[in-house]
Amino acid sequence: MKAIRVEEFGGPEKLVLREVADPQPGPGQLVVRIRAAGVNPVETYIRTGTYGVKLELPYTPGADGAGEVLRVGEGVSRYKPGDRVYAAGSMTGTYAEQALCAEAQVHPLPAQATFAQGAALGVPYGTAYRALFHIAHAQPAETVLVHGASGGVGTAAVQLARSRGLTVIGTAGTERGRELVQRNGAHHALDHHAPDFGNQIASLTAGGGVNIILEMLANKNLATDLQIVARFGRVVVIGNRGTIEINPRDAMTRDARILGMTLFNASPGELAVIHAALGAALESGGIHPVIGQEIPLAEAARAHQAVMEPGAYGKIVLVV
Ligand code: NAP
Repeated sequence: MKAIRVEEFGGPEKLVLREVADPQPGPGQLVVRIRAAGVNPVETYIRTGTYGVKLELPYTPGADGAGEVLRVGEGVSRYKPGDRVYAAGSMTGTYAEQALCAEAQVHPLPAQATFAQGAALGVPYGTAYRALFHIAHAQPAETVLVHGASGGVGTAAVQLARSRGLTVIGTAGTERGRELVQRNGAHHALDHHAPDFGNQIASLTAGGGVNIILEMLANKNLATDLQIVARFGRVVVIGNRGTIEINPRDAMTRDARILGMTLFNASPGELAVIHAALGAALESGGIHPVIGQEIPLAEAARAHQAVMEPGAYGKIVLVV
């Protein structure tokens, strides 16, 4: 089968297409014929070799994918060859024609979702769901600011929060992105580069601030977040690419909490809850992943460049 391989750490050009052996499932494992693979920013950080998570070379990147079950190992009871599934995690990487997965990493893909949409679920929707409901304990009627609402995690968070009855404010850096945020269900779409951003939040919340902030770029925004969050509010740090100075007094006077989170820390039980909820939401139409770009597998390097550029618009997937 064909797979993207990283044989040495470095820039996007280190993603090379190779012929490798077909994976064979052991007990409790299955092989998915991947039709689309999700591209997440973390895969670009890992590729550089300077990130906290360092994989052994050579490896195939990718945690998210969707396609049909190809082969099942002994003891696999929930799936048979031909079933439409999405993978949220894989043992061999999803930037490939085939991916070996543990049975628990695979979930049914409802007929109304495309393979590209299935490939947009694992990391983005898993992260958005965990941030909103397991970390921030979001409740209907609260107000959430999705700070970075035009990309993979942000579009997911807007849909999940809206369908749960929150008031949703989403941000994007471009007009096109803000149109997407609004069409996606946000009540208000703002520009995260606007100099009067804090005042805009104050006027939308009658001066009270937002109950929850899902922060995609904490190193830029955390200091401001602590000034626009409501009393007893929660700021969830999802994305961060550097350091920032904050005034702890802003948190102190509001009884506000800064909550870090990474999907890597979700327990198997939490992941089972998340994917049961996502499956139901897909079936009922509560969520509908937005695919911004479909790029051929062989051009994975271009996808890694694109996912780090400003002007996000939904999800970038590789078509296989
Ligand atoms: P993405 O699809 O590339 O989207 C990036 C988002 O950040 C876009 O909405 C972008 O908006 C926005 N952004 C850019 N500049 C911003 C600013 N100054 N203030 C607020 N938002 C800004 O990436 P993603 O997959 O959604 O991931 C978002 C971040 O979360 C990444 O840093 C990623 O590594 C991280 N992440 C963390 C976890 C975790 O478990 N903690 C899981 C998944 C992702 P414009 O392009 O419109 O400006």
